[in-house]
Amino acid sequence: MPPHGRPAQVLVVEDEAPLAELVRSYLDHAGCTVRVATTGPDGLAVARDWAPDVVVLDLGLPGLDGIEVCRELRTFSDCYVLMLTARSDEVDTLIGLSVGADDYVTKPFRPREVVARVQALLRRSRPAADTGTDENDAEVRTIGELRLDVAARIVHLGDREVELTKTEFDLLAALASRPGLAWSRRRLIEQVWGVDWVGDEHLVDVHIAHVRRKLGDDPASPRYVATVRGVGYRMGRG
Ligand code: CA
Repeated sequence: MPPHGRPAQVLVVEDEAPLAELVRSYLDHAGCTVRVATTGPDGLAVARDWAPDVVVLDLGLPGLDGIEVCRELRTFSDCYVLMLTARSDEVDTLIGLSVGADDYVTKPFRPREVVARVQALLRRSRPAADTGTDENDAEVRTIGELRLDVAARIVHLGDREVELTKTEFDLLAALASRPGLAWSRRRLIEQVWGVDWVGDEHLVDVHIAHVRRKLGDDPASPRYVATVRGVGYRMGRG
């Protein structure tokens, strides 16, 4: 989350130099401070040193690929990760999301689209006070043993703190804002990724699977995140 007054810091990790420069110029034009790394190890080094708000990460890097980079990144950073995938290969995408990427864009893409996705991620990190509050923005939500401190973005299950990525937290917070309400995938996407998001709505399923695993929630008999067949998900016992 960029502190007030500081431009958002975006790290672009992409081995194709012309593409990296194109993305850099668009992000730069959008007001971000941008650094480019052309290899995975360089990207990780810059990420450690500079602590970017968003990493735009090419999946197809020589040597240490984007999956490995993302996995490593997640051991020390909770920044947003936007993955660039080479083709609309669902496997690529799902693997990318499974190691903690928050969103993805499929190549070839318009640079404008990357900018829009980065901006959508940055909007998500704004505290609720900046975007207006309503009665659903209660600071702490409790469902069974699950306790979400929305302002602090901390989740506890009983006495144990549960480490969620930002996207996982946002999904859980959305569901918990209306316990018992069935959310379609599309509605969750609009809530978490933004109304303009276009892509495979099953990315919701990937992130929900992570949330469930981290909560120890059995999809066959969920205590927290229940599947609503043909619709999506809701918070509450299945
Ligand atoms: Ca590449």
